[in-house]
Amino acid sequence: MKNGKTTAIILAAGQGKRMNSTVQKQYLLIDNKPVLYYSLKAFEESMIDDIVLVTGNTEIAFCQKEIVEKYGISKVRVVTAGGKERFHSVACGLAAISWECDYVFIHDGARPFVDCDIIARAYQTVQETSACVVGMPVKDTIKLSDKNGYVENTPNRSYVWQIQTPQVFEKALITEAYEKLVSEEKILRAANIVITDDAMVVEYFMNIPIKLVEGSYRNIKITTPEDLKIAEIFMDS
Ligand code: C5P
Repeated sequence: MKNGKTTAIILAAGQGKRMNSTVQKQYLLIDNKPVLYYSLKAFEESMIDDIVLVTGNTEIAFCQKEIVEKYGISKVRVVTAGGKERFHSVACGLAAISWECDYVFIHDGARPFVDCDIIARAYQTVQETSACVVGMPVKDTIKLSDKNGYVENTPNRSYVWQIQTPQVFEKALITEAYEKLVSEEKILRAANIVITDDAMVVEYFMNIPIKLVEGSYRNIKITTPEDLKIAEIFMDS
């Protein structure tokens, strides 16, 4: 499929417990603007047609007024409530798309350094492959451990990528994958399978290859207090 209509789902419904802050990480300020503003602005300035913003149930009005309207993010068609886990929030975002949409870009609102080049590379790729995720090759050696904290094995570093967002899929494909996930959630939970990104949902439920697309080493997720310091340095440069 070529040149389809595109919607970005920007996720901002997390509690951000690892930040140890009373303010959720997506609302912390970098250079006087909330973390969430930067990813919304990147998608606003990109080739994306529409945006769904997913927030906590009690923050919908705040986001609409203090972020979307205040900063003139005109592509936001709806601000909707997310769920308990990230994948619940993605399912809520998908359910909110009621307009023509061929490709869905799912992005963590806590990744302020996504840019138009990354979004364009992912768009180019998804048109060829149906499914792609942004990431970067790791710089460190990665070890897999057993449950007792002993090294189990060492994957070949040249094949190991650190995964970022956006993760981009044909709409029909990602909708079907998430419908299957929702209906089998209890089975996965019982098997101790923790869903941490969208590609995992496609890996489990759909038999299609997912292409890796180069993101950027700056496209970090603000998770712990030191990430905010790094973000301030990136913003200054
Ligand atoms: O928790 P994690 O750092 O993986 O969250 C990644 C992104 O997903 C963040 O932008 C966060 O706000 C969002 N999220 C969400 N709903 C949840 C959990 C996380 O929208 N229940």
